[in-house]
Amino acid sequence: MDEIRIDNLKVFANHGVLQSEKKTGQFFYINAVIELPLGRAGRTDDLNDTVSYAELCEVMVKEMQAKNYDLIEAAAGHLIVKILSDYRMIGRVTLEIRKPDAPINASFESVSVKMSRARHKVFIAYGSSMSYEKEGKRLESPEIIEGAIELLSQDPEIEIIKKSENIITEPYGGVAENKFYNGMLQAETFYEPEELLDCLHSVEKSFGRTRDVHWGDRTLDLDIIYYDRDVIYTDRLSVPHPDMQNRDFVLKPLNELAPYMVHPVLHMTTEQLLKIMKKS
Ligand code: ADP
Ligand code: MG
Repeated sequence: MDEIRIDNLKVFANHGVLQSEKKTGQFFYINAVIELPLGRAGRTDDLNDTVSYAELCEVMVKEMQAKNYDLIEAAAGHLIVKILSDYRMIGRVTLEIRKPDAPINASFESVSVKMSRARHKVFIAYGSSMSYEKEGKRLESPEIIEGAIELLSQDPEIEIIKKSENIITEPYGGVAENKFYNGMLQAETFYEPEELLDCLHSVEKSFGRTRDVHWGDRTLDLDIIYYDRDVIYTDRLSVPHPDMQNRDFVLKPLNELAPYMVHPVLHMTTEQLLKIMKKS
């Protein structure tokens, strides 16, 4: 990926754990590596085809001074999310914040943190088969789904791009008794895979999700189907979702949003997966 770099941007700000640091302030130095495609700007010589480094500097200075954080990690994290959400062209931001006057009783040049976050394309399947009483109001499955999408879109690190139609399906796995409302979200996120899983679990929880019976009825289920074209296998996460090719309530809504997307392990498009599943 092409890059814009900003070296040693000097900003006076008031971050630090100590009260005295918040009161008097000090200089911070930022190194930023901004990854984005620059080929077009290279040909057109048009500022509209790139991101202005002057503007990036302004944004960083403003964000650094807008709020006082204890940690430079928090300052860097907020700056990165701000830049990634404001400029859709940018795919990754790596920031280093240096603090040469950190209050440490030792001889040193500077301390620093370096953080890197990227924009990821994800597909999230949702399902609901039970109503839930939230703040004195009984929410049926379609309202739970609407509420969950609303909650997700309020998250600064998630942007919902598209939503499929809800489809209503018969119970699956022989345990659940109610009908399911299912569908798919296409989104962009700055979360790493397990951070996204934590976020989905907290949204499930705020709609009363409990985990008692596997495959049982549930108020809300949010599963990661695809995370970029990554293949992930950890204790908590399997991506692409290992059972997706066997579930029409996953493939149908996915086919509505991304028929030609290729499964990174099975090497088949959604359309092909759906066709094969229907035959077997
Ligand atoms: P299910 O979705 O299979 O009906 P749960 O929602 O209760 O069951 O999820 C059980 C566990 O599955 C979660 O705690 C999570 O750690 C794990 N898991 C593995 N892969 C994924 C994935 N791709 N998306 C969501 N959860 C996953
Ligand atoms: Mg789940």
